[in-house]
Amino acid sequence: MKRIIPFVFALLLLSLPIMALAQNYSYKYEGDITPDQSAQQERVRALVISFFSIYIVTGIMICVWVYKDAEARAIEDAATAMWIILVIFTWIIGLLVYIAVRPSGNLVSCQECGKKRLSAIAKCPHCGR
Ligand SMILES: [Zn+2]
Repeated sequence: MKRIIPFVFALLLLSLPIMALAQNYSYKYEGDITPDQSAQQERVRALVISFFSIYIVTGIMICVWVYKDAEARAIEDAATAMWIILVIFTWIIGLLVYIAVRPSGNLVSCQECGKKRLSAIAKCPHCGR
């Protein structure tokens, strides 16, 4: 679980420029707008911020899920990192692509360590038995 933390930070860092853009958008025309337009812009800004909050929260959840699923299916670390990056940029589309191309098979609980593993593979990716 500790190894997921860098991915979470990467996602948060990625969200910062988006937040900055959302801020600039509403301040750009501040000089020559009526109070009505100002209220309108506030609503748009609130909408944009809530949209990106949902995007970030669900994005983190998808990243954690893909990471755990990839580990259980013994996908190599480099490939897992690639999937995480793809999910950060494409969100649910990356998740759907991952589900379509990942090694198929049922996940079962390992008899040695209790963590999820693909039933078809010989060695448990968590404990190596
Ligand atoms: Zn195990």
